[in-house]
Amino acid sequence: MIGEGILSTNQKKHAYVQEGRTVGFYTDPTLCIGCKACEVACKEWNDVPDDGYRWSGNSYDNTDALGASTWRHVLFIEQDRPRGEQLAGPMSGDRLSDLTAHEDPFRWLFHSDVCKHCEEAGCLEACPTGSIVRTEVGSVLVQNDICNGCGYCVVWCPFGVIDRRKKPLHDAGGAFKCTFCYDRQASGLVPACAKACPTESIRFGPLDELHAYADRRVAHLRATGYPDAHNYDPQESVRGIHAFFLLLGEPEAYGLPPRPQVPTIYLRSAWTSAALTAFGALGAAFAAFWFL
Ligand code: SF4
Ligand code: SF4
Ligand code: SF4
Repeated sequence: MIGEGILSTNQKKHAYVQEGRTVGFYTDPTLCIGCKACEVACKEWNDVPDDGYRWSGNSYDNTDALGASTWRHVLFIEQDRPRGEQLAGPMSGDRLSDLTAHEDPFRWLFHSDVCKHCEEAGCLEACPTGSIVRTEVGSVLVQNDICNGCGYCVVWCPFGVIDRRKKPLHDAGGAFKCTFCYDRQASGLVPACAKACPTESIRFGPLDELHAYADRRVAHLRATGYPDAHNYDPQESVRGIHAFFLLLGEPEAYGLPPRPQVPTIYLRSAWTSAALTAFGALGAAFAAFWFL
């Protein structure tokens, strides 16, 4: 927690990998200042290549989306509604009622997105080479020296996170995404993005502790003028995510699916249909010979 200093789980050394303790990220846009230190720290620590400099014209977001060379992405969202009791622009009054009477309501949200490290991970289930594995801390890791670049994981991810790196970047063709800084964690270090975040908008720690904190955080925000605060941690199909978020308003505004689905949930019905079709065809063939 901010104010805990070196005792914060974002700062102190740990032994979660050795203990096999499930950890996660809780990312809170109400604390984010859009500094992008997380994006930069991720690129720097993991030697992720730059994927081009261009002006998107989309607020101050020139990164656009997560991808093979963008493992953290700070989304800039501009909305025509007030943010809690915050007043935007020059005021003709000092109360929210004055604002809504005389000013266009406006809020600016910053949301640091990342791989969700799903409990039921589509990428992991689809990978035919065993390149994608579950680690001791519950994260989902791509072992790039085993990846053959088939791209199955790309289409099986319900969040559009993982992607294949394009030429002429190094290791082009392979699939890449956030590693949850497994190498740092194995040495007792906090993931680079959380370590660099100056406001602890990205909060790293044991998943059970993060869930308890997240519930308290939402209750606090709702009691202090943010009625649309809620936690995004879909349970259906993906069975929970290890990098979960506080959101103000609807998930679609953040590019998050309200009901993400892992394709394997359709496997049972697909195999049942295939079996029924096969039995039907067999029965029809027998009937055809019988009545000949
Ligand atoms: S968000 Fe996508 S890439 Fe990340 S673990 Fe889930 S399925 Fe895999
Ligand atoms: S955990 Fe590590 S790899 Fe993942 S986004 Fe943060 S810095 Fe990048
Ligand atoms: S480092 Fe923290 S405050 Fe800065 S953009 Fe990332 S999440 Fe937001």
